[in-house]
Amino acid sequence: MLKAQQHRWVGLLLWGLISALGCVMLARIELARQREAFETDARIVHRLLSQRVVQHDAVMATLALLQPATPGSQPEQRLSALYPQILSVQRRESGASWPDARLLVAETLSRALRGPALAGVDFARGRYYLVLAAEPASYALQMDLRAVVPWSEWPMAPETSAVRVLIEHEGQDWVLQPGRLGQGGWRFDFRKHLAAESQPFDVVAQRQVGWVELPWSWMLGWAALVAAVLVGWLALLRQRTARRRAEELLRLGQVTRLNAMGELAAGMAHELNQPLTALLANTQACTRLLDEVPSDMPTIRSAMAQAVEQARRASAVVSRLRRAVERPDLAAQLQPVDLMQAVQSALYLLEPEFRRRNVLPTLDALPDSVTVMAEPVALEQIIHNLLMNALQALEQVPFKERQLSVSVRATGGLGEMAVTDSGPGMTDEVLARIFEPFFTTREAGLGLGLSLCETLAAGMHGNLKAGRHAPRGAVFSLSLPLALPAPPGKP
Ligand code: ADP
Repeated sequence: MLKAQQHRWVGLLLWGLISALGCVMLARIELARQREAFETDARIVHRLLSQRVVQHDAVMATLALLQPATPGSQPEQRLSALYPQILSVQRRESGASWPDARLLVAETLSRALRGPALAGVDFARGRYYLVLAAEPASYALQMDLRAVVPWSEWPMAPETSAVRVLIEHEGQDWVLQPGRLGQGGWRFDFRKHLAAESQPFDVVAQRQVGWVELPWSWMLGWAALVAAVLVGWLALLRQRTARRRAEELLRLGQVTRLNAMGELAAGMAHELNQPLTALLANTQACTRLLDEVPSDMPTIRSAMAQAVEQARRASAVVSRLRRAVERPDLAAQLQPVDLMQAVQSALYLLEPEFRRRNVLPTLDALPDSVTVMAEPVALEQIIHNLLMNALQALEQVPFKERQLSVSVRATGGLGEMAVTDSGPGMTDEVLARIFEPFFTTREAGLGLGLSLCETLAAGMHGNLKAGRHAPRGAVFSLSLPLALPAPPGKP
C-alpha cells in the first residue's frame, strides 16, 4: 500500500517537474520567436522612415541648387504635388522676413550647420518645419508626419498589430500605430535614431506579450504527453511489483509446503514409534514368561526373538526416516534480523489479501529498530502464518468489525511481535490444543500451521504464545532473543 502510494507521489512529482520544465522551454521558444519578429518589424520601420526623412534633405538641397530661379516662377510650389508629406513651401528672399520667428532661428542654425534645420515641431498635430538657409533665397518646408509614413510598404497591419510605434522628439511623441500594451507578461522595446541629422527623431517600437499569448495548446499537449508516458511507466512498475509479489508468495508457499511435509513425516514417525516400542516391550516380556515355563519351546523362543528383531528393525527404520526428514538445524543459522522489517515485508506481501477482505492492518512499533536472532525464512513463515490465520478468523465477522494490528517491541532481552485480531477468538478447549499437529477447526485446514510455527520458534530459541484478546479476538505473540549489539570497533 505504502509502495503504491509512494510510486503515485513520485509519479506526480515527476509529472509536475517534467511538464513545468517543458512548458518553460516552449514558452521561451515562443517568446524568442515573438521577439525576433518584433525586432525584424521594428528594423524595417526604422529603415523605411529613415529613407523618407533623408529624402527631405535631398529635396531641400535640390531646391537650393536650382537657384536663382527665374523671377516670378516658383517651382518649389509644385513640390507638394510630388511629395504629399510636404504641406507647404515658404521662401524668403534676402531682405524679406519670415512670417514666423521660429523659422528665422532655424535659418540661422541652418547657416551654421550648413544643412537643413528643424523648426516648429508640433507632434500634437503631426507637423514640423525644415528650414534651409541659402542664397539668394532660403526655404522652409512644412512637413506632415502622417504622410511621411510609407504605409504601402509597412510590415504590419497598423490597425490590428499589437506593436505600438511612435516617433519621439524632445518629450513629444507622434503615434504612428497604437498597438496593444496590456499589463503583465513580457515587454519588448526598440529605440533608434532616424538616419537623418536634420530630423533627429527617435523611432520607438514597443510590444507587450501577454500570458494569453503563450503557446498554451502546445504546453497542454506536452503535459498530457508526459502524463501518458508516466501513467504507462507506473502501470509497468505496478505490473512488475505484482509479478515479484506473486513469485515471493509462491516461494513462501513452497517453503511452507516443504516444512509441512516435514512436520507430517515427523508426526507420523512419532506416532509409529510409540506402538513399536510397546510391541518391543511386550515381546520381551513374553519371552521372559516363556522362559519361566518348564516346557522347552525353542522354536517359539526363536520366533519371538525374530519378532523382537523385526520390531527393532522397524523401529530403526522409523528412526532413520525421522532423522531424514528432520529440519535443518535452525539454531546454526541464526543471524540478526530487523523484526520490524520482517513484519513490513510480510504485510506488503499480503497486501492483496488484506484488500480483498477489506482489512486495514495497523502497525504499532517503537521508533528504535528491534533486532532479533532469527533464521530469516523461518521468521517470515511464522509472521505469514499468523497473519493468514488472523485474516481467516476475521472472515467470520462483519466488515466493519474487522481489526488487525501488529505490534513490535523489545522487553527483557526479547524482541516480541504480536498479531491481534478482532475475530471470533478461541474457546479454552481450542486454546489448549492449538499447537498440536493436525488440530484444526477449519474445514479446509490441515492443522499444521501453528504446530510448525511453534517448532520453528523453538528452533530459534524463541517461543510462540496464543491468547484471547479482550473484548473479542485472538492474540499470537512470538518472542525471540534480541541480537547482541556489535562489539565496539566492529561494523
Ligand atoms: P489451520 O489453519 O490449517 O486450521 P493452524 O495450525 O494454523 O491450522 O490453526 C489451528 C487452529 O487454530 C485453527 O483451525 C483455528 O481454529 C485456530 N486458530 C488459529 N489462529 C486463530 C485466530 N487468529 N483466531 C481464532 N482461531 C485461530
